Amino acid sequence: MRKSGVPSPLKTIRAYCLYCVGGDPKAVAGCGGTDCPFHPYSMGQSRPGPKVIRIFCLECQGGHRSFVDNCQTTNCLCYPYRMGTNPNRKGIGGTPSHKPSKKVVSGLLNGKFRQLELSLEGSPNQGKKKE
Ligand code: SF4
Repeated sequence: MRKSGVPSPLKTIRAYCLYCVGGDPKAVAGCGGTDCPFHPYSMGQSRPGPKVIRIFCLECQGGHRSFVDNCQTTNCLCYPYRMGTNPNRKGIGGTPSHKPSKKVVSGLLNGKFRQLELSLEGSPNQGKKKE
């Protein structure tokens, strides 16, 4: 956990993947959703930037940037990163633009992946105390 209280993008993605499959790490390991923006990072490897989560949010909201920007699901694990910026780096600079290229967005929207649920009921992070 960082100073801002927001887990890193990688930990956020890992937590979301666990939530997505009902909390079973073996199910994450066996996930076949290769067209999901989170799939390359689902096992907690590599260093995804916040832009990956922005792309996921765009997928969630059907590609509508304004819907993502005005998302009201504040308890979603992705919420702190929905703008494609890292709240842990606020004031430091170096955060990438929150607008992924049209090519990236259209490629993802043409894929098969669709988010099934937005509720965090049963989330692996639910009930955890903030540090
Ligand atoms: S519900 Fe979650 S994944 Fe969907 S746009 Fe809002 S913050 Fe992003």
